[in-house]
Amino acid sequence: MGSPDAVVVGSGPNGLAAAIVLAQAGRKVIVFEAQDTIGGGASSAELTLPGFTHDICSAIHPFAVASPLFRTLPLARHGLEWIEPPLMLAHPFDDGSAAVVERSVGATAAALGRDAAAYRALVGTFVEKWSHIESSVMGPLAWPQHPVTLSRFGLRALRSAESLARGVFVESGTRALFGGIAGHGMLPLDKRPTAAFGLVLSVMAHVAGWVLPKGGAQSLSDALAAHLRSLGGEIVTATPIRSVDELPDVRAVLCDLSPKPLLRIAGHRFPERYRRRLERYRYGMGAYKVDWALDGPIPWRAANCARAGTVHLGGTLGEISLSERDAWDGRPAERPFVLLTQPTLFDPSRAPDGRHTAWAYCHVPHGSGVDMLDRIEDQIERFAPGFRDRVLARAVMKPADIERHNGNLAGGDIASGVNDLRQFFARPTWSWYSTPVRGLYICSAATPPGVGVHGMCGYFAAKRALGEVLRD
Ligand SMILES: Cc1cc2nc3c(=O)[nH]c(=O)nc-3n(C[C@H](O)[C@H](O)[C@H](O)COP(=O)(O)OP(=O)(O)OC[C@H]3O[C@@H](n4cnc5c(N)ncnc54)[C@H](O)[C@@H]3O)c2cc1C
Repeated sequence: MGSPDAVVVGSGPNGLAAAIVLAQAGRKVIVFEAQDTIGGGASSAELTLPGFTHDICSAIHPFAVASPLFRTLPLARHGLEWIEPPLMLAHPFDDGSAAVVERSVGATAAALGRDAAAYRALVGTFVEKWSHIESSVMGPLAWPQHPVTLSRFGLRALRSAESLARGVFVESGTRALFGGIAGHGMLPLDKRPTAAFGLVLSVMAHVAGWVLPKGGAQSLSDALAAHLRSLGGEIVTATPIRSVDELPDVRAVLCDLSPKPLLRIAGHRFPERYRRRLERYRYGMGAYKVDWALDGPIPWRAANCARAGTVHLGGTLGEISLSERDAWDGRPAERPFVLLTQPTLFDPSRAPDGRHTAWAYCHVPHGSGVDMLDRIEDQIERFAPGFRDRVLARAVMKPADIERHNGNLAGGDIASGVNDLRQFFARPTWSWYSTPVRGLYICSAATPPGVGVHGMCGYFAAKRALGEVLRD
């Protein structure tokens, strides 16, 4: 490569997306990645035993399938294959039953008893109108092309998950199902806009599917990297950037970083006012994650759980709300809400014959050092008695380990920053991807549209750079 036009710091999904958009526009781009391997939050490794592949961070990828950028890329040509489990989600209860989300709205609604019509009206409507709201969900705040649909969506999404679930559904199972989905927002469920997470992720289950890449999240990153290289882009691993001053002289630097690590490498370049605004950026609760190598599938009491890629373990809406409120308020929950995936049921390539893996986390207070392993396994045992007997090995990541692995996730906050109303739209400030330093951009999940493996933060940051400093 001749002298590059642009540098991307970090090879997470947004960094790779930004680099691809720049390379597609004919710019020479080089990506520097601190780790020995690429992918950031979309990567896999043998965390427990040889032959067991685990997703270090992201596991389920509806946003990657729905991404307006990724869906235009020839990733299948670079080996990416999506696997769709028979059920997107199962949510078991103490009586041995489970609420489920299927790929189709109709089948999901049909199993929700008295809430069938309400589910179709709430979720089904926005599945049908997804094309009307997609650009608002998958991008920064902008004047909507379909203001009527968007305002109907916004009126519901900007509520708290608890108030929407209790206002719309009558069955306790449906309320719990919706609350669990909203729990991905990493906020107490009585806080606005947690309904947005419940709604968007529910809609995603039907629009895109809660799917997993064959071989693990690393396959997605590898396919993105292969496509980038095919466009002439270069990736240099094992190269942590300690200061933007050490980068080659280029017209644009795009940082796949959240404010805390960004300040470390570029803080000295920013005016005092902007630096203070980044310092005020808030990170939220952390995650406590466990990966297991298992000698067989998880022995679920509710048969439907064995057909689902994702299983939410938390019982009723009230119980899940309490767990999330506790973690937010600084108390590790006694009975944490656990988000679990079981990829090898649908992708045997990730474990030796007949063996399995499981991946789970719960939310804990920001930076908490409390050991949650027993509490997480107790929740699994509650719905799958005998689970512990199947465990061959475990790997645990506490919030401090998560931040050590990736500085973007301060305090173990896997969303790269709180998603409450104050920070939902102004991520990390109202200038979004731009900084006061000409040619220096932020392209990480700390910019709109935020958390998730979709690459759209990288897409919009790259477009901005192309429109400003990389015009020719
Ligand atoms: C435990 C966990 C579970 C998750 N589950 C899901 C899920 O199921 N589905 C989903 O869609 N999302 C999930 N997410 C969120 C998702 O992983 C992130 O939102 C996404 O990866 C953000 O992408 P990014 O490109 O902005 O940043 P990151 O993925 O954080 O990538 C940033 C990259 O920059 C590198 N870097 C940092 N500092 C430097 C430096 N100074 N020099 C060079 N390189 C540097 C890092 O090593 C990293 O590779 C999960 C996250 C975690 C942690």
